[in-house]
Amino acid sequence: MVREQFQMLINGQWIDAKSGKTFESINPATEQVWGEFPFADANDVDDAVRSAHAAFESDEWRLMTASQRGKLLRKLGDLVGENKEKLAQLESKDNGKLIRETLGQVGYLPEFFYYYAGLADKVEGETLSLDKPDLFGYTVREPLGVIAGIIPWNSPLYLTAIKIAPALATGNTVVLKPSEHASATLLELGKLALEAGFPAGALNVITGYGLPCGDALTRHPLVKKIAFTGGSESAKHVIRNSAENYAKLSLELGGKSPNIIFNDADIDSAVNGAVAGIFAAAGQSCVSGSRLLVQEDIYEEFVTRLTERAERIVVGDPSHIETEMGPMATASQLAIVERFVDVALTEGAKLRTGGKRADIQSGWFYTPTILECNSNNDTLMQEEVFGPVAAVIPFKDEAEALAMANDSKYGLAAGIWTQNLAKAHRMIKGIRSGIVWVNTYRAVSASAPIGGYGQSGYGRECGIDSINEFTQIKTVWINTSSEPMADPFIMR
Ligand code: NAD
Repeated sequence: MVREQFQMLINGQWIDAKSGKTFESINPATEQVWGEFPFADANDVDDAVRSAHAAFESDEWRLMTASQRGKLLRKLGDLVGENKEKLAQLESKDNGKLIRETLGQVGYLPEFFYYYAGLADKVEGETLSLDKPDLFGYTVREPLGVIAGIIPWNSPLYLTAIKIAPALATGNTVVLKPSEHASATLLELGKLALEAGFPAGALNVITGYGLPCGDALTRHPLVKKIAFTGGSESAKHVIRNSAENYAKLSLELGGKSPNIIFNDADIDSAVNGAVAGIFAAAGQSCVSGSRLLVQEDIYEEFVTRLTERAERIVVGDPSHIETEMGPMATASQLAIVERFVDVALTEGAKLRTGGKRADIQSGWFYTPTILECNSNNDTLMQEEVFGPVAAVIPFKDEAEALAMANDSKYGLAAGIWTQNLAKAHRMIKGIRSGIVWVNTYRAVSASAPIGGYGQSGYGRECGIDSINEFTQIKTVWINTSSEPMADPFIMR
């Protein structure tokens, strides 16, 4: 098979790693190496950060008006839309995500660029109401400087768009580090950013592993903010690294999100919501509804219907539009899924369906799996699997559902299925998570903040809040008195 060769983007130039080293990307559906990428180390990271820093300090970027930056973002959004097919196919090949999912996700991506393009010239400070008659005060929101964007493999383009659009809109410059398992589309995005007219160095993309590349990037002294999406263990390293450069941090981490089905729910809807929650993206989604809490009087009916639907899911080649579930993105992710299922069975969970690799010749495919758990303390109810494995458990009443939902170290998302408005509101109020979906699941929008409670992270992406994440406040004091400033050492 012909291997595609990729280069990184630093200061508007396409280059190899200084060491000449490369790493391979494997197509999860075929297990064939298809691409080769530069293996960036600390030297390359230093070049990329310095290029972003120089761009940040340059007159071209510094003096560009906010509405001009907005125009560049709008153009980038247009280009992403025009290149939808190419980007969607590339992402599907690189991480095994379904083409029907990548087409949908990339097709919606321009909206994120347009949203922040529109916000760029609406970032404003405030006039202060000071308790000092001769002083006038106001605030301005200013960019931070170089932003490090660290991206996981599951939805690289989407998770990048929600970082770079607000970062560039507010006048920062960016160094992106994609996952070593899915680098290709972010390099393509770098190409489109240059085509859109962003100056050299405003957006750099370096490819490499967490160690040494991500590590060197997140501890670099010129990095002022780290926007990290990934797993909890990597996040701990990043938090420690941020102490080296006092960088601001936003962390979008994992989850074990409860999807709660009450006995008065529209069952057809709830089954679809449960399937979307755990089997979309083969469960490789941070907001997976991986804990299914079902009220006891509809429990058996619901689980039977869910099982029937899960068994009809078409697992296979992600590049075919009729396929409903693709492979695990990496061999190690497949091994993790297998390990969790083994642990669940050892702890006494009952297997309703799945629980094995799919019967497909090559590729890291696993079957849609449903396991009935005995207690909310079971490993499968507490730990993120990041695969197509639903942990199901019955509950008696609202109070028990809420207690189980909140008995988690995570707090990223939650689903509530009920026709009772008052009950929905009581649950919304009680649940500790950054997102609550009622009678729907996995909805996203540029204007809707995403982020977690607890060990799901902190900081928010999307929405107006994200502007605050990428800016800092300068407070300005102006003396309006006609009198000269008094000598501070003479008491009056
Ligand atoms: P990961 O933590 O292994 O890797 C994420 C990124 O961090 C990669 O680019 C990796 O190279 C880099 N990295 C790893 N170690 C590093 C270090 N020491 N210093 C700096 N960078 C380092 O995660 P993954 O396996 O790619 O993705 C899966 C995880 O991401 C899951 O836990 C999932 O829940 C989470 N996730 C969260 C969200 C969200 O929005 N909350 C979205 C998608 C994925």
